[in-house]
Amino acid sequence: MSATTPDLSLYDPFTGMRFAQHCFLCGTPTPAPSDSVLVFDRWLLERYQLTDLQIKLLDQSVLAYPELRMPCCAECRQQYVEPLEQTVAQAVQTGAVALRSLDEKTLFLWLGKMFYGVMLLEILNELDPLVKPLYPLAENTQLLRKLQCFFQVFQALRVPIVYEDFTPASIFILETAPLEDTIPFEYDDDLSTMTFSIKLDETVLVSCLIDNGLLRQAMGRVYRDAQRPLHPIQIAEFKARVYYGAYLLNVVPDYFPRPVQPGDTELVFDTLIDDVTREIFNPWENSAYGTSLQEMWKRWQIPYTEIMRDARQPLSYLYDQDGEPLVLERWEGLTEK
Ligand SMILES: [Zn+2]
Repeated sequence: MSATTPDLSLYDPFTGMRFAQHCFLCGTPTPAPSDSVLVFDRWLLERYQLTDLQIKLLDQSVLAYPELRMPCCAECRQQYVEPLEQTVAQAVQTGAVALRSLDEKTLFLWLGKMFYGVMLLEILNELDPLVKPLYPLAENTQLLRKLQCFFQVFQALRVPIVYEDFTPASIFILETAPLEDTIPFEYDDDLSTMTFSIKLDETVLVSCLIDNGLLRQAMGRVYRDAQRPLHPIQIAEFKARVYYGAYLLNVVPDYFPRPVQPGDTELVFDTLIDDVTREIFNPWENSAYGTSLQEMWKRWQIPYTEIMRDARQPLSYLYDQDGEPLVLERWEGLTEK
């Protein structure tokens, strides 16, 4: 393949559900276990000392971070995955400002790679006949359809793709205040809503990977107000809003690659969201949001009853009673509030 004629052919692993022993990006058979890449790259494992840590899959089986791998051919690894990881690693090394100034597409592809990697592990695990998962993803057609849409835009990691007038994901970039910030690395996800969050030193990236930026629009004010160093309990609240908001999202975008003309060097994708026959978000319910808060605030052990003391206005550390942004340097327990 010469440099002047890039390969614009798309790949769809969902046709025939080809996930095992095929490159996750291009579908090339990868029979050897060494034909693979780490879901969380080596530099992350080293920088944040994750080598001995484990991750729990949905069926409760446990894997160590270095065991989290996805099949990948040598070409895709060298040409696409490694350069992407290098770009982000360098930015993290340089500092939070460099990380925050990476372009959205790079962040989307990088977050997307880890999200998709975790997802693949879950699916591959389920295809193991000995495993009886509680909530089988491979049988969840709605989720598979979302994942398929996600993969269409995510393969911009390999194929030069222009997103015409849209951005595939909502990406939020937050900064923690150092005073009570003790955890350098943190990662969580919600596979069903395709939401993913990762903390790298003082920077926290939170993303809903399949909403065409709708959540970020809807959270415009909260996100603007959060553009300041935040206490970890405030970050957790922000994440609860994103995770719950993603859960309310009621639409899945459709993506349409334009027909390729001779001489084209990139694909152009258009998108459509059906906001005519259905609401974009289901209605917000404080009681359900309170559960999301409780989950995100687990570290602070705040009881649900405290969170919901005022059912019309669940407990907040981002805003005070009058709805003004709250400055919180130390969290000194519930009585402080
Ligand atoms: Zn490949």
